[in-house]
Amino acid sequence: MHDDARFDTRAIHAGQAFDPTTGAVIPPIYQTSTYVQDGIGGLRGGYEYSRGGNPSRTALETQLAALEGGIRGLSFASGLAAEDALLRTVLAPGDHVVIGNDVYGGTHRLVRRIFGAWGIRHSTVDTSDLDQVRAAVELGTTKVLWVETPSNPLMKISDIAALTELGNEAGVLVVVDNTFASPALQQPIGLGADVVIHSTTKYLGGHSDVVGGGLVFAAGQEELAEQVTFTQFAAGAVSGPFDAFLTTRGIKTLGIRMQRHSQNALAIARRLEEHAGIARVLYPGLESHPGHELAARQMSAFGGMVSIDLDGGAAAARRFAESTELFQLAESLGGVESLVNYPSEMTHASVRGTEAEVPESIVRLSVGIEDVEDLLEDIDRALARL
Ligand SMILES: *Cc1c(COP(=O)(O)O)cnc(C)c1O
Repeated sequence: MHDDARFDTRAIHAGQAFDPTTGAVIPPIYQTSTYVQDGIGGLRGGYEYSRGGNPSRTALETQLAALEGGIRGLSFASGLAAEDALLRTVLAPGDHVVIGNDVYGGTHRLVRRIFGAWGIRHSTVDTSDLDQVRAAVELGTTKVLWVETPSNPLMKISDIAALTELGNEAGVLVVVDNTFASPALQQPIGLGADVVIHSTTKYLGGHSDVVGGGLVFAAGQEELAEQVTFTQFAAGAVSGPFDAFLTTRGIKTLGIRMQRHSQNALAIARRLEEHAGIARVLYPGLESHPGHELAARQMSAFGGMVSIDLDGGAAAARRFAESTELFQLAESLGGVESLVNYPSEMTHASVRGTEAEVPESIVRLSVGIEDVEDLLEDIDRALARL
């Protein structure tokens, strides 16, 4: 592969050279915990023990770095394991974090409960409002600005380039959770971000069959990348070889999947917008979305996540979420199959009663890549039951 290969080519070839021993086009899954040494310390390819390194994981890490335009990728047992390793490396008791008010519920819980108990303070702000972020940054003690865009589940759009500039001026590490957009649609490092984090469980894996997480470091963050690699090795939250393989396999079709997710989601968002029982459709691809222009600038399409705010409040939202058939009621997102989620009692139950609470009238759709006509019929039937 040439260094200047384009996105879809990198997705398929980065880190995926054929097996030199047999010529197998797909490198084998290195389902091994340890490696023979040719005499003490005589390692073949640097592999010693699979917590420290495994070729299936290396393949995925190379692919992740190539897709996000970073200098190093790391693959973890889950998205939250990746977040934990990064924050544990960067933060010390007394430090402060600025975090978005509708980030993934588990991210907020990690910062509030695990790091809070360890003496880390945080401010929860609307990162789509630069003034709020500026006011929350404490010079000297704020170490991390955590941005998720589009956000989960309210689909707010934050200005990555402007936030990075603001953060870097204040000496703050700017971390972008790129799970919703995926690198096929948005590349935060190109916009200035220092570190990108993924729940690879979602669009990167893409088939709802594996849990995983990833970090990618921007050029200039070589030292941090080394330190986090050490944290991962020393604390142990690595992905297993089979999980890494499944994720790599999913990533190869990311580009075409994201195009189809985006087309289907736009069609569904437009249909929902016409419906009387719905107060707001939250989809950055709609001209009515307050972040539409910004999203059009920093994303190449608008992704597969659509949230709706129902007029009938909690009762209507629950009824809708329990009425669809093709859209199966489940947590998670980003797979080829469509899912519906009721955030306030499912994905975001852990943030009820906090500043990151999600209104009870919100339903979130993860629009899959099924035939859009079938999806539209499913939505129409569920709305008819409201
Ligand atoms: C799911 C998710 C996470 C957490 O990832 P896990 O793989 O479930 O640990 C983090 N951020 C976002 C945006 C997510 O959707």
